[in-house]
Amino acid sequence: MHCNLINGEWRGGQPAIVNRNPSDLDDVVGEYASAGADDMREAVAAARAAFPAWSRSTPQQRADILDAAGSEILARKIELGTLLAREEGKTLPEAIGEVARAGQIFKFFAGEALRAQGELVDSVRPGVEVLISREPVGVVGLITPWNFPIAIPAWKAAPALAFGNTVVMKPAELVPGSAWALADILQRAGLPAGVFNLVMGSGRVLGPALLDAGIDALSFTGSQATGERLAADCAARGIKVQLEMGGKNPLVVADDAKLEQAVECALNGAFYSTGQRCTASSRLIVCSGIHDQFVGRLMERTAALRVGNALAAETQIGPVASESQLAGNLGYVEQGLAEGASLLCGGERLQLATRGYYQSPALFAGCTPQMAISREEIFGPVAAVLRADDYEHALALANDTPFGLASGICTQSLALATHFRRNSEAGMVMVNLPTAGVDYHVPFGGRKGSSHGPREQGRYAAEFYTTVKTAYIGL
Ligand code: ADP
Repeated sequence: MHCNLINGEWRGGQPAIVNRNPSDLDDVVGEYASAGADDMREAVAAARAAFPAWSRSTPQQRADILDAAGSEILARKIELGTLLAREEGKTLPEAIGEVARAGQIFKFFAGEALRAQGELVDSVRPGVEVLISREPVGVVGLITPWNFPIAIPAWKAAPALAFGNTVVMKPAELVPGSAWALADILQRAGLPAGVFNLVMGSGRVLGPALLDAGIDALSFTGSQATGERLAADCAARGIKVQLEMGGKNPLVVADDAKLEQAVECALNGAFYSTGQRCTASSRLIVCSGIHDQFVGRLMERTAALRVGNALAAETQIGPVASESQLAGNLGYVEQGLAEGASLLCGGERLQLATRGYYQSPALFAGCTPQMAISREEIFGPVAAVLRADDYEHALALANDTPFGLASGICTQSLALATHFRRNSEAGMVMVNLPTAGVDYHVPFGGRKGSSHGPREQGRYAAEFYTTVKTAYIGL
């Protein structure tokens, strides 16, 4: 059994989490210890005890450890990608790409540890200097979701450690394998005991225990319902909090879009990674001049997507991650039909050679903005096409959502692209690119109901993982 990492020791727990392959339910990826509230308290206490020394470690020490972790992740990307594809169900090339991204994130933050700097400012008073510096926040709790089993743990853990914080990470129950592998790599890269702790198990049990144990900051990625509850609980306890929640990301297709490029963006954004990305293009907003041509071509391409085992070379769309996600997707398909949308293709559970959570990608047209499939985050391979009269209408539809993570436009017009970039109410805007698929060295995050608190990733990560100190020195 794979154990929890608490204070530098691998510790068991009962009962074990059985990690199953969603492409083949007879394939057990591994057994992982399930922690209780007591384990969580010990992990937070260990992180608290480790903080004074780690927060005063040299940037070189931190950079060396992060760099070593990044090198090992990159060197093992095929093995770790295979593990990731087996436990989460994204295709092997996508999984290997995600692992490589995790390695690059550690390399990037190894550099950030060395680049951290402050400011020296003249005071408005004579004979006084002002020094502005950044210090670590303290003990940071990380709660991560199942859809990016190594990249999200990496993009939270790497900046936390780079800036001198200690960490308690609670990965999603569905995908403990990648998080465990990351903990093992960090431990062997030379982190002192207690600096990074891994506590696996139920969010409902361990989430409250993490907050009650007295952490200084919490970074969460997951559902909106859980995120909003955690934000309220953190506010009541004075815990700094950062949330990344859902999206209902629009891709606008303007009349002058290049047809094949727009179809490719929609296909990738809506269905790759089985639609299980918070940046997925789940709303395709298509201007009337190109609508019928676009929909016809996208339907052909969608119906031809090969759904199958995540590890098979010919597979383009892997399984859905879990039984409950699959049931949720199929429920939305029924609701779309009941509300009057036209199902052009897909939307069915598939029985393939291995027992798994397979679903054919569902494409709806004739959707109105009020329908549940146009408003709610589905988090699966279900996309809704909305027809817009013109670009202005399309922009209004794009912004008519409680979410604001990513958005996109396909157009050949610089004027439209610029207008959309400036007026889209989203944290990330794509032009002639899928809404999903982002770089690792620049900020990630959204607006409205999608995000709360400072951005993640890139040098903007310092906003969350450090606190500013202003010092006045009389000369
Ligand atoms: P999803 O529906 O995508 O699984 P969740 O928000 O339920 O989204 O899960 C994201 C992460 O939050 C997981 O690690 C999960 O275990 C954790 N989690 C779930 N419920 C809670 C809770 N009440 N408090 C803290 N974390 C939770």
